[in-house]
Amino acid sequence: MRLILLGPPGAGKGTQAKILVDTYGIPQLSTGDILRSAIAAKTPLGLEAKAIVDRGDLVSDAIVNGIVSERLDAEDCKPGFILDGFPRTIAQAEALDQMLVDKGVKLDAVIEIKADADELVRRVIQRAKESGGARADDNEEVLRKRLGVYQEQTAPLVAYYAEGGLLKTVNGMEPVDQVTAAIKAAIAH
Ligand code: AMP
Repeated sequence: MRLILLGPPGAGKGTQAKILVDTYGIPQLSTGDILRSAIAAKTPLGLEAKAIVDRGDLVSDAIVNGIVSERLDAEDCKPGFILDGFPRTIAQAEALDQMLVDKGVKLDAVIEIKADADELVRRVIQRAKESGGARADDNEEVLRKRLGVYQEQTAPLVAYYAEGGLLKTVNGMEPVDQVTAAIKAAIAH
């Protein structure tokens, strides 16, 4: 099973990815998590990415494409993977298409998790409280920036994957278990 979870910050991509990992026995591949680990470990990648992530901008396509390409070669991605937070631009989607061609594999589905902006702000502020400020980009100002970046750079991927016949949309405003059920039903059809 090879899936992409698409949706704005706070839509529930990470939450759903973690549940689907158990369901399908395949890894979650979160470019945000990989970048945050690199930032915490102060690796060269982390030092380069920190200011960009903290202000809610996108790290360059070249950097994230490199991260994903390397990660997809790992043994645990052989049976499949759940991409969470990648691709985020058309250029990343095109790079991913090429990576998959090179590996001789295909995506099964792209799941768009939809949620309205007010609910996203509420959730991310809640996440910031619960995590004790662990994410520098989880505050209202940076979140609004990230939502704007999503609309501009990532939302065009909805049409991109709809054209490819891969897009399934679920309502991310429902409770977590209902969203999971909707995703599983969408994948099964
Ligand atoms: P996320 O955890 O997916 O919300 O990502 C947190 C931050 O990491 C984003 O706001 C970006 O700064 C950076 N990031 C994560 N994934 C990508 C990506 N695919 N392309 C560019 N930047 C990314």
